[in-house]
Amino acid sequence: MSDRPRSFVVHTLGCPKNQVDSDKLTGLLVADGLSPAGDTSEADMVVVNTCAFVEEARQESIDTILALSETKAPGASLVVTGCLAERYGAELAEALPEADRIAGFGMALAGGSSAPPEPAGVPVELGRRTARPVPAFDLLNLPRPPSARPWAYVKIAEGCDRACGFCAIPSFRGPQRSRTPEQILAEVEQLDAVEIVLVAQDLASYGRDQGRGERRIVPLVEAVSARAARTRLLYLYPSDLNDTLIDAICATGVPYFDLSLQHVSAPLLRRMRRWGDGERFLARIEAIRRREPEAAFRSNFIVGYPTETEEDHDRLLRFVEEAQLDWCGFFAYSEEDGTYSAGLEGKVDGGLRSERLAELGELQDAITARRRDLLVGRRVEVLVDEPGAGRTHREAPEIDGVVHVPAGLAAGTFAKVTVTAATGCDLEAA
Ligand code: SF4
Repeated sequence: MSDRPRSFVVHTLGCPKNQVDSDKLTGLLVADGLSPAGDTSEADMVVVNTCAFVEEARQESIDTILALSETKAPGASLVVTGCLAERYGAELAEALPEADRIAGFGMALAGGSSAPPEPAGVPVELGRRTARPVPAFDLLNLPRPPSARPWAYVKIAEGCDRACGFCAIPSFRGPQRSRTPEQILAEVEQLDAVEIVLVAQDLASYGRDQGRGERRIVPLVEAVSARAARTRLLYLYPSDLNDTLIDAICATGVPYFDLSLQHVSAPLLRRMRRWGDGERFLARIEAIRRREPEAAFRSNFIVGYPTETEEDHDRLLRFVEEAQLDWCGFFAYSEEDGTYSAGLEGKVDGGLRSERLAELGELQDAITARRRDLLVGRRVEVLVDEPGAGRTHREAPEIDGVVHVPAGLAAGTFAKVTVTAATGCDLEAA
């Protein structure tokens, strides 16, 4: 095998934002003269785009690296990139001799142009100076191939300006850097997808780092929506969900609200260094439902944050029951080095955390199933993702359930179908 790889494969872990990075890495490697291999065992270079969000994600990343070191072809190189590489570069290189290269954001994967020679090539605009380090290289504005699926994620900003008590992301992804509307719209057109899913660490703050005016989320949503049949927004910090944004989301025809709530107990939210409380969240959700009865909701919550009491947990249970959200994710608190919460007293015992998680999960599973049952008999419009599977506005790709549709419906088209049954998260339709 020659020194320089000729073929590659990219394995992606973590969130949709990582998938976008992988698409761009793929584009970069192809531009560098490498070709995508059909499978890991055929590739000269195996790239793992890792996630370092919480302990579980790190473990999954490491397990994947170890598994790939066994299945790759003899002599093929194994390159680890993404958040784990950025956050633990040197440590990781020492702990994982299986990896041939640990490439944080901005380091060459394969030689050639797959990384700019110096930070001067950073294709991102920085609106202001900041004390927090910015990774040397953003993939944000690299070109992407047209989407192979009817939908595609588009990352509109990188980094985050908040300082949530549990979150290490700003420490290794840096402060928020928004792309310009022109760059985003050019990518939307290039992707040529029926559904565009906008993602960022903190979507509603889009453009704040570049000043007010045009570079804000509402005009962006309107402009994307004029170019794609469906526009979906993921990750909205609740304080930024104002009436104008709600109207803009409803006007896209995809009234789907992914609210990043994290908890509902006011004292605990303050210790999480976050805004809001359960009453305000409920009032907002009810107002959206009055405005758009077909609105679908998703949220995420952290369970077992330091100092979370039985009373905090009960409040969350009551909220979940009252809010009747379509989808909810509950995540065990994970202590991250360097975060505010790592220094808090009052750690919640692992066993108790698991009990709380199970209780919340069970409650929400029943709510989700009930809400899916209510759709039986309804006529709904689906975007067919692939033969036999589609989604209404209620299901975000890869995250929520799907609608099983007749296999004859062509991928990439819209169809009206009647829901005939609900099976947990998924629906059957004819
Ligand atoms: S909003 Fe909070 S949780 Fe989300 S990335 Fe920023 S700091 Fe982390």
